[in-house]
Amino acid sequence: NADIAGAGRPTPMMEQYIEIKAANPDCLLFYRMGDFYEMFFEDAEMASRALGIALTKRGKHLGADIPMAGVPIHAADDYLQKLISLGFRVAVCEQLEDPAEAKKRGSKSVVRRDVVRLVTPGTLTEETLLDTRRSNFLAALARVGAGEGAAFALAWIDISTGAFRVAETAFEALSGDIARIDPRELVVPDQLFSDDSLRTLLRGLGPAVTPVPRATFDGATAADRIARYFGVATLDGFGGFSRAELSAASGALAYVERTQIGSRPALDPPRREAASEVMAIDHSTRANLELVRTTSGERRGSLVAAIDRTVTGAGARLLCERLASPLTVPEAIDRRLDAVAWFVDNPDARRGTREVLSSSPDLARALSRLALDRGGPRDLGQIGAALGGAVALAEGLGAADPTSGNLPSEIAAAVGALAALPPELGLRLATALADELPPHRRDGGFVRPGFSLELDEARALRDESRQVIARLQADYAEETGVRTLKIRHNAVLGWFIEVGQAHGEKLMAADAGTRRFIHRQTMAGAFRFTTTELADLETRIASAADRALQIELSVFADLVERVVAASASLKAAAEALAVLDVSAALAEIAEAERFTRPKVDRSLAFSITAGRHPVVEQALRAEAGDPFVANDCVLGPGPGESRGRLTIVTGPNMGGKSTFLRQNALIAVMAQMGAFVPAEHAEIGVVDRLFSRVGAADDLARGRSTFMVEMVETAAILNQATERSLVVLDEIGRGTATYDGLSIAWGTIEHLHEINGCRTLFATHYHELTGLADKLARVHNATVKVKEWKGDVVFLHEIVPGAADRSYGIQVAKLAGLPEAVIRRARGVLSRLEAADRQNPRAALVDDLPLFQSRPAAPSAEPAPPDPALGLLDTIDPDDLTPKAALEALYRLKAAR
Ligand code: ADP
Repeated sequence: NADIAGAGRPTPMMEQYIEIKAANPDCLLFYRMGDFYEMFFEDAEMASRALGIALTKRGKHLGADIPMAGVPIHAADDYLQKLISLGFRVAVCEQLEDPAEAKKRGSKSVVRRDVVRLVTPGTLTEETLLDTRRSNFLAALARVGAGEGAAFALAWIDISTGAFRVAETAFEALSGDIARIDPRELVVPDQLFSDDSLRTLLRGLGPAVTPVPRATFDGATAADRIARYFGVATLDGFGGFSRAELSAASGALAYVERTQIGSRPALDPPRREAASEVMAIDHSTRANLELVRTTSGERRGSLVAAIDRTVTGAGARLLCERLASPLTVPEAIDRRLDAVAWFVDNPDARRGTREVLSSSPDLARALSRLALDRGGPRDLGQIGAALGGAVALAEGLGAADPTSGNLPSEIAAAVGALAALPPELGLRLATALADELPPHRRDGGFVRPGFSLELDEARALRDESRQVIARLQADYAEETGVRTLKIRHNAVLGWFIEVGQAHGEKLMAADAGTRRFIHRQTMAGAFRFTTTELADLETRIASAADRALQIELSVFADLVERVVAASASLKAAAEALAVLDVSAALAEIAEAERFTRPKVDRSLAFSITAGRHPVVEQALRAEAGDPFVANDCVLGPGPGESRGRLTIVTGPNMGGKSTFLRQNALIAVMAQMGAFVPAEHAEIGVVDRLFSRVGAADDLARGRSTFMVEMVETAAILNQATERSLVVLDEIGRGTATYDGLSIAWGTIEHLHEINGCRTLFATHYHELTGLADKLARVHNATVKVKEWKGDVVFLHEIVPGAADRSYGIQVAKLAGLPEAVIRRARGVLSRLEAADRQNPRAALVDDLPLFQSRPAAPSAEPAPPDPALGLLDTIDPDDLTPKAALEALYRLKAAR
């Protein structure tokens, strides 16, 4: 019995499946069977759960049913996208030969199959799997050496555009750099991945982390691997790389090779980014300033969403990249600003450029798909359209500046790259491709009639034959007298004649002698026949259609070859288009939002006149609320000073302190990315590092003790900020007991002023700190202006010099709707507390505390002992209390009074 014999042994196909699956244990295996990708065993179970597709069975393995689930190939992209976003990796296994070939080898033989590609988050290329407006980086992290002397580097590749960069980094800078690059996937050598501190650091950063064998990062073979990939003898032409950089680049390349298997993405040679050329912005600062996404992870509400007016995907990606990596070299910043200024001054050129760009497809991504042999006729069409646009742009911009030589260098370079495109390629694509293009080359129909004589002939024959069939059908119908006779086609029989049952029987009988209508098949209610004439015709049609398709495919291959051969100039053009888009878009937003050109130099200036917060301003306008109130900010050294200032901002909650702090940090970022800024006037000495922190009370989303996090981050600032840095601290020290918090804030300000000497904004609730302005030369006070009206408070959102006289907490509480009885009681308590405070004025604190530098140890004058109830209150964390515990706490508080 065959079943029993087969119970212990898999079928040849299952054998093949099991072997391929074993080679790809960390992936779901998409196993191609005809028009489906099938999954078996656990893969099928997982996929059916993840995708909500039916789980069925197919045969038995070791006596048990084999679970199976499948997706049709035409819908495979949608399923892939879902699986990737759920964190799966997928190995795509294709049939490598026609099933007919396998049959020839014998009835038991299986179609040859193998994995042609691993689909992972960092190696996507399909339009449907990618976000047009976001780069899709795969990054690799390398470490060379160990302990103190260890060197770290990152390499990152976007195979959907070919971008390839490397940079050195350090353990401390790692989270900031990864946040800047924002990769979808990070590969790490396994021995590094087993490092606990590194794993902790990577957790929660965002990208999927993939450990890989360390050998691919091997320093000894790294340079070879890179040289081999780019077909060069030495890497000298690409510039010098450190050992760590080579190792990272090699690790990234090896992963690309491993996932793309036989295909080779058209990558740019690796470009080195020097850390000193970009503003260092750590992970928390980025999150806190909401540069490319808000703290809740959305693009809406972020700075980039507020200022992005680009009209192409490539432009949007470049804008994001510039925003994530502001520059520190004034000349480079000025080059970008010149381009923006030119588009501001030439509104016609700007409009024209944006119009052409808005119908210009994604050149880089289409090119990458074609180079990987994953492209279709539409990708060729996109290249053709982009080339057409490029020519129009180069001409238009050249015409805008007929004297030539007056274009700013960035625009001139872009025009140069566009003009350098091979003109014959665009022409070729335009003449070869039809107006309407199908998505897949396998269906044909994309070559323009008139392009190839041979193709036109084959097509004519094919189409003509169809007419012949129609004629034949009419003839046979007449000859047999069967009006319902039809000539049909299916995959099994090819062309055949079909008539109803009654007519069929008559035909069979009448024809028994002549053998004119040869019986092929009897169906329920129908008979099928063929004739020698029809069989003949069939061969002619099939061969004509086949020839037409073969010709189209060879045209396709030829076009792809020409495109890939021009990939260097196409890539340069793609980059030029992105640069033009970004420059014109920044000019567009500058005009719409009244942004102005900042002055960026090597001084320590920081002087903003009438600055605004671009996101809050737009939000207020959308709500049709009060207009945004612009505010000045001066943090540069005053006359006779050699270092920047520290401004302490006090004032009530909701007064606008945080907004003011962040807007100045954002203005620095925008200026150094090469954008105009929301201010009447801005002068900034380049900021080397930007720090922005919010106190623990505002930061609830973390697992670790919030106060601990706050202190770790404050420590990082005190250790790293230089006099070129810009530091923005919002309510630091609030996560602990009042006097602890005040003392820490006090010490922090002294350190920033005396040791770091950075330009600083420090918002605080501790009014006691404003006294420091009397002691420390470069400390100034500022406060938000409020108006009191019949016991209510009105926020004017205006920042003025001076200290807040009071915190207006009770008025704010009233605004928030606290019951009137509580407000009344609070007023009474407050006046008692203030009376007590007057006997212990903060002046005493200021005079008695020695300066930070002379005696950094404990202050000599202890503040008065706190109220025991207040002490108790400080031990209570309302977020942790059950209702019952809250009531008990209240009783304890009462008792302590
Ligand atoms: P604080 O940090 O002092 O508690 P915020 O900066 O969070 O206050 O500001 C509270 C609200 O006040 C903001 O959400 C915004 O709507 C409004 N606001 C802040 N600054 C301004 C301004 N300059 N002009 C107009 N409205 C402002």
